[in-house]
Amino acid sequence: MFCDILMPDGSPSFADPRYVLKRALARASDLGFTFYTHPEIEFFLLKDRPLDGSRPTPADNSGYFDHTPQNIGMDFRRQAITMLESMGISVEFSHHEGAPGQQEIDLRYADALSTADNIMTFRLVMKQVALEQGVQATFMPKPFSEHPGSGMHTHLSLFEGDRNAFYESGSEYQLSKVGRSFIAGLLKHAAEISAVTNQWVNSYKRIWGGSERTAGAGGEAPSYICWGHNNRSALVRVPMYKPGKTGSARIEVRSLDSGANPYLAYAMLLAAGLKGVEEGYELPPGAEDDVWALSDAERRAMGIEPLPQNLGEALTLMERSDLVAETLGEHVFDFFLRNKKSEWEEYRSEVTAFELRKNLPVL
Ligand code: GLU
Ligand code: MG
Repeated sequence: MFCDILMPDGSPSFADPRYVLKRALARASDLGFTFYTHPEIEFFLLKDRPLDGSRPTPADNSGYFDHTPQNIGMDFRRQAITMLESMGISVEFSHHEGAPGQQEIDLRYADALSTADNIMTFRLVMKQVALEQGVQATFMPKPFSEHPGSGMHTHLSLFEGDRNAFYESGSEYQLSKVGRSFIAGLLKHAAEISAVTNQWVNSYKRIWGGSERTAGAGGEAPSYICWGHNNRSALVRVPMYKPGKTGSARIEVRSLDSGANPYLAYAMLLAAGLKGVEEGYELPPGAEDDVWALSDAERRAMGIEPLPQNLGEALTLMERSDLVAETLGEHVFDFFLRNKKSEWEEYRSEVTAFELRKNLPVL
């Protein structure tokens, strides 16, 4: 369904994000690995989509796993999944997420290029089905200050032929040396790839904004760079191993949001993980605690750093990153930085409702 962007002479275009992912996958393949991904895509259904900056209205008032009949999400999910399956995109699971109007649909495991293509189709299908039901779908990372944002947690695994390279019987969490170094790579490079995994001004409102249900900084999105076993506050979570299912050993990256370019984001996650494998990075100790609940001093003592505070900081880190420059290629790297810097500068120069509300009464 998807095709590559080609130059007039038929060679692949270095400006094509799909080609960025293909090159990253080819590097993995040179090392003997294939890369599989499984995204959990969260998004909102809204009654309206005001374009003047005023607040939208969620399409329902339901919450986590709600199955109430007046819940528009149920009809929506049924119709949306039927359409996806008829297009050959398999759905693993779906439910109402925590915020009013918020949905989650999880796609079946596939090689990363197919998954990225499927995510692009998925977004179009969701918007189309929403319109047919008289609502609007948005993949904006954080449309409401007081509710959680929309993440695109992605489960990753590497295979060597038929063998899951993350699995090793008898080791801690059944996680192999390759799996441990891969996670170490994801953590070490998390801040410099953040502008790609979380590419919008609004992405950092999800990471730092919190919600009414959680006191912590990021609500249910990771704000700090750490990993943990079944720890939902960690950036990388190692899910419980299911006995007898060696093929399903995987890790879950929770930083990605639903507004990301999946080709570029998956290319960067793969490159960061492989860097860890190639260089034999050591995995730091896992975080057992809810890292949002710790004090800054406690986190510092554990060596846990925060993700960038905003898009501007993320771009400064990206600009200095050899890993991002090599993986995206000069063309995409330059264009991406130019494009995103202009978004950041436009945002930075805007006087917001927050400032007016805080300053006018007192200044
Ligand atoms: N909505 C949360 C996020 O932004 C995730 C909720 C969940 O754990 O599924 O990442
Ligand atoms: Mg979820």
